[in-house]
Amino acid sequence: MADCEMLSKCGFFKKFSDSFEAACRGLINQYCRGPKQTQCKRKEYRAKNGTAPPDDMLPAGHMFKG
Ligand code: SF4
Repeated sequence: MADCEMLSKCGFFKKFSDSFEAACRGLINQYCRGPKQTQCKRKEYRAKNGTAPPDDMLPAGHMFKG
């Protein structure tokens, strides 16, 4: 499956793509590079608010707590 079309612009992806945090890696594989990219809550936020969500907002919808 193709990567999410937002990959190069997405604050979450930029911030966490090099993370070794298992949870982040799982989300990236599921969402950004995987089958759930159409269900991404960051995209929903952007569509609703017309602006990018905070970088720490995860594609599943909640905030990252490191
Ligand atoms: S977090 Fe969402 S918008 Fe960002 S790259 Fe991943 S799937 Fe795309």
